[in-house]
Amino acid sequence: MYRIGLGRDLHRLAEGRRFLLGGVEIPFEKGELGHSDGDVLAHAVIDALLGAAGMGDIGELFPSGDPAWKDADSILMMKSAWERVRNNGWQLVNLDCTVSCERPMLLPHREKICRSLALALEADPLTIFVKGKTGEGLGPVGTGEAVEALAICLLEKGPSKETPF
Ligand code: MG
Repeated sequence: MYRIGLGRDLHRLAEGRRFLLGGVEIPFEKGELGHSDGDVLAHAVIDALLGAAGMGDIGELFPSGDPAWKDADSILMMKSAWERVRNNGWQLVNLDCTVSCERPMLLPHREKICRSLALALEADPLTIFVKGKTGEGLGPVGTGEAVEALAICLLEKGPSKETPF
């Protein structure tokens, strides 16, 4: 049995915050605002994994009003969500992500981000990919006010080890 899941998140960028993507800190003059550490990519991945398994969403698992998640490490949140999903018998086939921001350039950090996600999800790094886009100067992403992440994953459950590829 296979299930796909989609996650999307958008965070404002502000001075005095860290710019985190998939657990990797990227040197930049601004960072993501958020109740947690603001890692927009980790948040999108959480929703993709939970959505594929039909197990809720990030807001249910980690309510933004809960002081327990204030400045929380989003990678630990992602690991916790993935543990729930995995305990339900799901395995990750692949995860594909797109991060949109006007600056900084993502390409120099892409491999590190993929490896960081793979490590946290205990997955083969070859099954995880992250792409960078800009906002073409349009909208909150294009004006540099926000960073957006999209994540899509395929989960597999059952005795078969065959992949659909
Ligand atoms: Mg978020």
